[in-house]
Amino acid sequence: MTLTTNYDYWQRIYGRSMYAAEQIQEANLLINLLEQLLPGIKADIEFVDVATPLTYERYTGNWQGSSCGWLLTKQTLPLMIRGLPKTLPGLRNFYMIGQWVEPGGSVPVVAMSGRNIIQQICHEDRRLFCASPIS
Ligand SMILES: Cc1cc2nc3c(=O)[nH]c(=O)nc-3n(C[C@H](O)[C@H](O)[C@H](O)COP(=O)(O)OP(=O)(O)OC[C@H]3O[C@@H](n4cnc5c(N)ncnc54)[C@H](O)[C@@H]3O)c2cc1C
Repeated sequence: MTLTTNYDYWQRIYGRSMYAAEQIQEANLLINLLEQLLPGIKADIEFVDVATPLTYERYTGNWQGSSCGWLLTKQTLPLMIRGLPKTLPGLRNFYMIGQWVEPGGSVPVVAMSGRNIIQQICHEDRRLFCASPIS
């Protein structure tokens, strides 16, 4: 189960016994909710692991432990369609790709991000862009 949570809160309690206690409490809360939807599932659970934004931050280095870049909100959702700039003013031959310039993130989207930039570079260099599907 994945849900949005408050980074600042987890960071405040990180390194204290409350952090582990909170993880257990959150897991139990979610399991109890799940049990209401799928009666009997609780008895089938063999192992529970809770990752917080601090866990993601530790493993990925991502800002605030974000798993897919921008959190999709009313403000950021339109950026998925409008797009974000991939270059920086005054810095030639520099292009950004990945989840922080493609709101929504995910592996397919960041792969597309790289592909699109190559297409743009080919266009700027007046070279033919050709891509072949991986078989
Ligand atoms: C737990 C988890 C589960 C996920 N599950 C899925 C899933 O099921 N399906 C899916 O599609 N997506 C999933 N995602 C999201 C997906 O993994 C990301 O959106 C995607 O990997 C982002 O790719 P990226 O290239 O933008 O960034 P990253 O993959 O984070 O790559 C950035 C790279 O830059 C390197 N780097 C950072 N700073 C520097 C520096 N200063 N110098 C040099 N290198 C640097 C980092 O080490 C890293 O290798 C998941 C993410 C997480 C965290």
